[in-house]
Amino acid sequence: MDAEAREQHRVVARQEAARLSAEGVRGVALSWTDNAGVNRVKTVPTARLADAAYSGVGMSPVFDVFTSDDMITATPHLGGPDGDLRLFPDLERLTILAAQSGWAWAPADRYQQDGAPHPACQRQFARRMVARAAERGLDLRMGFETEWIVDPAGDGPAYGLTRVVERSDYLRDLYEALGAQGIDVLQVHPEYTLGQFEVSTAPADPVGAADDVILVRETVRAVSLRHGLRASFAPAFTAGQVGNGCHLHVSASGLLDGGDGAYGMTPAGEAFLAGLLAELPALLAIGAPSPASYLRLEPSRWAGAFRCWGLENREAALRFVAGDNPNAELKCFDAAANPYLVVGAVIAVGLAGAGPLPEPVTGDPATRGDQERLPLSLGDAADAFEDSGVLREALGEVLHGAVLAVRRAEAERFAKSSPEEIAEATRWRW
Ligand code: GLU
Ligand code: MG
Repeated sequence: MDAEAREQHRVVARQEAARLSAEGVRGVALSWTDNAGVNRVKTVPTARLADAAYSGVGMSPVFDVFTSDDMITATPHLGGPDGDLRLFPDLERLTILAAQSGWAWAPADRYQQDGAPHPACQRQFARRMVARAAERGLDLRMGFETEWIVDPAGDGPAYGLTRVVERSDYLRDLYEALGAQGIDVLQVHPEYTLGQFEVSTAPADPVGAADDVILVRETVRAVSLRHGLRASFAPAFTAGQVGNGCHLHVSASGLLDGGDGAYGMTPAGEAFLAGLLAELPALLAIGAPSPASYLRLEPSRWAGAFRCWGLENREAALRFVAGDNPNAELKCFDAAANPYLVVGAVIAVGLAGAGPLPEPVTGDPATRGDQERLPLSLGDAADAFEDSGVLREALGEVLHGAVLAVRRAEAERFAKSSPEEIAEATRWRW
């Protein structure tokens, strides 16, 4: 960020602060998501937004090596008490929060003191990968699904209308808040597990989709609290049961339609999917980043535990969704993931992909018995991630090293824990 860009930023922020003040906004939350998937935050009074937009807000780089239980690990580049970074709010995403009276939110990009981008800034990594796709002529669209479990749970049946009736004021308030915040909701429905719901949002540019999923999650949390409920987004709310996924849908015009490959894919589309399949074990270290992720990622739970793809196959990690908006859904990811790392890593491996795409799989891979399971533990996914040249190149040494260190630390921390202990320790972390 040079002086001119910062000055421009300050002018816009002054106007925005006046608008927010007139709407009764007292504080602005500037959040960013760490490598353990936790949204960390600094807040400023509305009157200081213009200063924050010009100078950034200080925050230590040590958070890049924080684990989800707030322990600190280290890499040769990161860790320790020294240094500072500046958080710059993205004013284009500045949003008045409908379920937190007097508050607004903006996602932050992280820069060094000298104005250079912080090499471990996940949101700027995502933006670099979007630019890489654009160089190849690809205008990618993405959207996340958010699943959560409310506590206390009602007792209505899975996917049952009873659940909506039991919680109709709650779900109405959720629709209202998301709508007021400009989130384009596709649908809300009850899910399988007791007290579980899902909201899905319309396809957006990849960085916008990552911003959306954070805003959706924090809005669900806030609306839940207003209704005396607590929302858990953890991969495994209860060990041994269907957990919370955070599936990602990916499309681009001229990629998955209009071609003469499988289900109308173009050669570039087939190569993109082949790239995802090739790197899925390493990608899991990004998209399923907690020991709890592997409690969720079990066969016969629609979590996508097998390294294969199929047309509308809900047990395949990669589900090809046909219809008016053909897209590829990565089902094996959950909300412990940093969504900026997810979208950036998916673009990187998709662009690096080369055919041929294996045959699509029909039927349950678990009963077919001929399909490869994805890594069974965070340690195995971290090994694949460590060896992934594609992800190392795309993330850069500093960010790749930080992600790996956090994965190793979390795998180590829970190495001797039972599934019940892991679920208990991670239930309220995201
Ligand atoms: N809850 C399942 C998961 O863990 C997903 C169910 C669905 O297909 O929406 O991913
Ligand atoms: Mg679902």
